[in-house]
Amino acid sequence: MSGRSIVGLEELVSVESMGSRRRMAMYRVGTEVLRVMTNRLLEKGFYWILPVMLSRVTDPLWPDPGASIEKRIELEIYGERVKTMQSMIIHKRVLVSLGPEKFFILSPNIRIEKRERGATGKHLYEFTQLEVEIAYGRMEDVFRVYEDLIVESIREVNARLRPELEALGRQVKIPETPFKVYKRRELEGKYGSKWEEGISRDSSNPVWVVDIPREFYDYEDEETGEWRNFDLILPEGFGEVISGAEREYEYEKMLRKIERDGLRREDYSLILRLAKEGKLKPSAGAGLGIERFIAYLCGAKHVAEVQPFPRIPGTVPPL
Ligand code: ASP
Ligand code: MG
Repeated sequence: MSGRSIVGLEELVSVESMGSRRRMAMYRVGTEVLRVMTNRLLEKGFYWILPVMLSRVTDPLWPDPGASIEKRIELEIYGERVKTMQSMIIHKRVLVSLGPEKFFILSPNIRIEKRERGATGKHLYEFTQLEVEIAYGRMEDVFRVYEDLIVESIREVNARLRPELEALGRQVKIPETPFKVYKRRELEGKYGSKWEEGISRDSSNPVWVVDIPREFYDYEDEETGEWRNFDLILPEGFGEVISGAEREYEYEKMLRKIERDGLRREDYSLILRLAKEGKLKPSAGAGLGIERFIAYLCGAKHVAEVQPFPRIPGTVPPL
């Protein structure tokens, strides 16, 4: 996405541009994507759960090769410390264990990315994930759910929004399913540490990449050293749009990983207690970056173009 990135950032943050023909076409594409995705999930029997934004516990985003957090926000309310939501992963794990066994959440996340990331064209400090979690699910179940959401939303956008796509000068072709699955180690062998950019540039269809060492909650096979987790990489340099995994559910193993990562076990006491009591169900799930997906369909120069109120790292607009 280099070259696409820095163009017109000032214009983007001025309120006057929020109603331009191009931006209006993007909001229309976004509306259609949300309509199709939520409808498909409801048809498949998923519960629709509303998000929370303040909590004692959130995603540590650590260790994560993809994360670059400048600031973690903590506030005091009612005499208690709470954090702003980085992702609802811990909430999803608890809910899928004690409540509905499959659900989705349109979950706003605040991630104060380092300011350099303003120029990548891909990062925002506020964005929304379409989160899904499925009790006793496997990675492949999650692959099929998101492949369907992606294919159907592209199909509907292409069929119903011709004038908007014309205004954008863009039309994404309907991807072939199932998407190919690559191992992260293979891609590192071919592209080195910049495998995400490499595979994104070289493929014309979205691809799954599995086995990415990161946060404790993703399942790690201790015998093979492989992680049962994944990213979905979009073509044309748009890059990562989904992260997800099968999850850890065993007390001893989670505790060991939390300590290995240098995290404070007190922060995860609830999920650890449930695991100890055998109440934490195995599950699989993921989250799709809604703005990134819409930006891909629209051929946006910067992912913030699809936001009426752009949240570009390093900038604080009037609204
Ligand atoms: N949404 C992701 C998951 O379900 C976590 C993340 O936000 O990266 O695994
Ligand atoms: Mg993540």
